[in-house]
Amino acid sequence: MKRREFLTKTMGATAAMTLPFSVSSKEPEHKWDREYDLIIVGSGFTGVAAAYSAYKAGLKNILVLEKMKVWGGNSVISGGLAGMPNSKLQKKLGIKDSPELLVKDMLKAGRNFNNPELAYIMASQAYTVYDMLIDCGAQFKDKLIRSGGHSAARSHIPKNASGGGLVVPMHKYLLAHGVKFQNRTKVSNLIQESDLSISGVAVQEDYDFDTKKFKRESTYKSRHGIVVATGGWTQDKKFISTTMPMYSDLERTAHPGATSEMIKSLLAVGSLPLNFDMYQLGPWGCPDEIGGGPASFFAGYAFNESIAVDPMTGQRFVDEHSSRRTRSEAEMLVMEKGTKEKPNYPITFSSEDTAFRAEGFDAAFRDGSVQKTNSVAELAELYGMDVNKLTQSIADWNEVLKGNMPDPFGKTIDKRTELKAPYYSMRLSPKLHYCMGGIAINKNAEVISADTCEPIKGLFAGGEVAAGTHGMDRLGGCSSVDCMVFGQIAGRTAAKYKANA
Ligand SMILES: Cc1cc2nc3c(=O)[nH]c(=O)nc-3n(C[C@H](O)[C@H](O)[C@H](O)COP(=O)(O)OP(=O)(O)OC[C@H]3O[C@@H](n4cnc5c(N)ncnc54)[C@H](O)[C@@H]3O)c2cc1C
Repeated sequence: MKRREFLTKTMGATAAMTLPFSVSSKEPEHKWDREYDLIIVGSGFTGVAAAYSAYKAGLKNILVLEKMKVWGGNSVISGGLAGMPNSKLQKKLGIKDSPELLVKDMLKAGRNFNNPELAYIMASQAYTVYDMLIDCGAQFKDKLIRSGGHSAARSHIPKNASGGGLVVPMHKYLLAHGVKFQNRTKVSNLIQESDLSISGVAVQEDYDFDTKKFKRESTYKSRHGIVVATGGWTQDKKFISTTMPMYSDLERTAHPGATSEMIKSLLAVGSLPLNFDMYQLGPWGCPDEIGGGPASFFAGYAFNESIAVDPMTGQRFVDEHSSRRTRSEAEMLVMEKGTKEKPNYPITFSSEDTAFRAEGFDAAFRDGSVQKTNSVAELAELYGMDVNKLTQSIADWNEVLKGNMPDPFGKTIDKRTELKAPYYSMRLSPKLHYCMGGIAINKNAEVISADTCEPIKGLFAGGEVAAGTHGMDRLGGCSSVDCMVFGQIAGRTAAKYKANA
């Protein structure tokens, strides 16, 4: 059955006439192909956290659906950084922090477009994410870093410096506890009853993402509603160029499956959209690697302990430790001075001491996206910079480090590592990284109706597909936590919900 036929065959005539959006609706005599206690759509951070809490709440027959061949979406390819105030590790390391401080940082980065209630829930429950991950067998490095825009060292790093180090153990734990995972199954529609509650999904089974071909269409009922955990859509060029044309040609960091069909299904059943023209750019993007690779990790350390310069002036142009939006906007201004023939990518670089401590450095250096130069003259030559101006910028920064002059950008300095040769450097170019927009949810991870501003019964969501927690821009290491806090909440809320039908 094609989506169109499905809609025609199943749409209740009354509902179709009176509802504000085009919705799909199950006829009373409709036969389900399969039935579950809970269906979760998406196998990333949000999906596995929802499955974990639903399982802990006592649900038995839980199904996680994934349209791709591989599990884990953006979560599994992410850096896995997780900003968790008051975690056991943060307490062990004696770092002073609080949920209130994180919320303050989030509202600043989000320019107060945030829903403060959601931000507080995320920050205050972040420590439960740490406990859940440890329970499932995830491991973290025994150090924390302070990512840009954060006022405390709270970014936890998985042992393998990858989101896979969090998703894979959770996946294994859930499988071992009877949760079912089914990949190559695309949810093409949410099924809505005439009372507007969501009771199931229409799926395409044996779905091939590359060819868009599938073997069968089926309908699955979910007795406790549906959790939508389908992430962002930054790979959907058409959707980006419609909502934020200026970003349509930017390179992206996401996995190929980050497309918009589920956000459209959510809109089709009447969900309230928020901030659809807001996207996050990753200021650590490097034009010499694909997506957000190891050079991005190295850039985080260079930003923290060293400086970034405009090659045209040889001078700094931003607080390298400010929020992602502030840095990306500043980098775009630097790039605007260049031309297609002679681009002007900003440069960040560090001394050897910093580079050798940075996750991602070895791979980035091997790949050539990070390069070594043995003197300031070599560094200037590599990027066509004025050597005198660059020498001055380095000297000024070292004076700032020694405390002999204030930082002109007000940068907070955690680690004072003298900037000296040999230098390790890379080019910067912001990449389209994260969807700030999404559908509105409340504190129980219930999806909000655009018509009533009340929850749509049986529809729950969290993670990147939902908006509000982060406002206009989010801090690094805060998506993973947002996903897993609201994923857990969605699983718990769903466990309490019982469909009428
Ligand atoms: C390179 C990179 C590095 C990052 N690093 C970090 C970091 O260090 N820390 C941090 O906090 N954040 C980071 N982020 C952001 C973060 O990883 C994502 O925002 C987060 O993983 C989103 O999780 P999610 O569960 O909402 O969605 P995802 O993890 O993207 O999972 C959604 C899944 O749903 C599936 N799906 C979509 N539509 C359908 C459908 N119709 N039917 C069935 N399945 C469907 C998708 O295929 C996907 O597998 C990074 C992102 C990238 C791209």
